[in-house]
Amino acid sequence: IWGVAQNRLKTQVGQNNYVTWIEPLRFRDLQDGILTFDVQSQFMGNWVERYFGDAILREVAAMGEAVDRLSFVVNRSPRPPKSAPATAQEPVPARPAARSRMGQENGLPLEPLYTFDTFVVGKSNELAHAAARRVADSDEVSFNPLFLYGGVGLGKTHLMHAIGWELRNRRPDAKIVYVSAEDFMYRFVRALREKDMMGFKEMFRSIDVLMVDDVKFIAGKDATQEEFFHTFNSLVEQKKQIILSSDAAPGEIDGLEKRIVSRLNSGLVIDIHPTSYELRLGILQRKVEVFGDRWPGARIGDGVLEFLAHKISSNVRELEGALTKLFAHSSFLDREVDLELAQECLRDMLKTVDRRTTIDEIQRKTADHYGIKLADLIGPRRNRVYARPRQVAMYLAKEMTDRSLPEIARKFGGRDHTTIMYGIRQIEKLSATDSALSEDLDLLRKALRWS
Ligand code: ADP
Ligand code: MG
Repeated sequence: IWGVAQNRLKTQVGQNNYVTWIEPLRFRDLQDGILTFDVQSQFMGNWVERYFGDAILREVAAMGEAVDRLSFVVNRSPRPPKSAPATAQEPVPARPAARSRMGQENGLPLEPLYTFDTFVVGKSNELAHAAARRVADSDEVSFNPLFLYGGVGLGKTHLMHAIGWELRNRRPDAKIVYVSAEDFMYRFVRALREKDMMGFKEMFRSIDVLMVDDVKFIAGKDATQEEFFHTFNSLVEQKKQIILSSDAAPGEIDGLEKRIVSRLNSGLVIDIHPTSYELRLGILQRKVEVFGDRWPGARIGDGVLEFLAHKISSNVRELEGALTKLFAHSSFLDREVDLELAQECLRDMLKTVDRRTTIDEIQRKTADHYGIKLADLIGPRRNRVYARPRQVAMYLAKEMTDRSLPEIARKFGGRDHTTIMYGIRQIEKLSATDSALSEDLDLLRKALRWS
């Protein structure tokens, strides 16, 4: 279990945090709801508990384990990971049934900090925010489902949790369930295995408001999709609200059945756009208010938030990670973080952020810029309306990332890398004389660098 949970945590907390805090944890056992790890120091245990405790509990709970707190044993020479599972596995088979029921009643826990109050609204997310508010504030279903989509870290999960909190407050008797699509699948597969489909269906079809995060995860998983479709239809028929999120529009999710796509499109589909500089700055200021008191003595100097908002543009989660890192430095060193220290602290982070934004981001922005669908930008259509933007994206991928041609080719639907090379040459040649094209390139470069 821990191995899988660990993997899922990696994407959540970011590579840096993962390597520093999560990877070194040695699973000891899970008994009576207490999940115990060996750690190298008390400090490390405290830290992990404080900043990643919720995430760890959430992930382990998501796998159907009954777990409600963490405990850490200081052990300066932790056992090698090999020996740990032997003891760890013993208690597991003893009580699977009771556990799974418990998890199923409630869905996944909501993050206390993800409320409307802590959500900062800007142009790029105002529609999504308004729709979320509408769902949270009204008892009638005016659109079904609400489908939110947008890039990683732009606040989809935050908004769903905010809806969840609001509804739970306002309608304490209603059954408000939040799950990830992955979790939906786990439960489905487990129900199959434990021959408890009745229980599964009962649970999901008696919900008043169902939120499923990252639905893209079920694309291509046929049996799960089928079940999801039935659950969905049953709830819609009962006029129960459904809220879904994904990183792409329904029609752009590969491997999602047509009938599901059309069902999804029959509700309200809203995208969250990448953040503007002003919004990022606003979010940072709000986070300082919200987190600041967790860091005794931390001081963030003038211009530092502006620097972060300027440098880290891809994803609000990265932005938050950076801020946390600065808080930590400031608090530990008991020194104000000025611009120089901020630059130093974030050098590594900025490097990986820059590298990671890349090709997906380029493709998305280019498709947006030319007003075509991402699927068409990547897909096979040869019409110039699609082919030119595609070549532009190839060109920018070469220019702005350190990816090799075969790597880029893979990102463009597995085309041959000579096709990529041809595309790049084409743009090189044309942009020398075609001023509209070179202007497009400049705009895109700017949008991608957020300069
Ligand atoms: P997604 O689900 O879209 O990948 P999340 O909802 O997990 O993104 O957001 C990532 C992080 O960024 C969260 O910690 C969230 O609180 C924060 N965040 C994103 N957008 C906003 C916003 N508009 N205001 C405040 N925090 C935000
Ligand atoms: Mg999310």
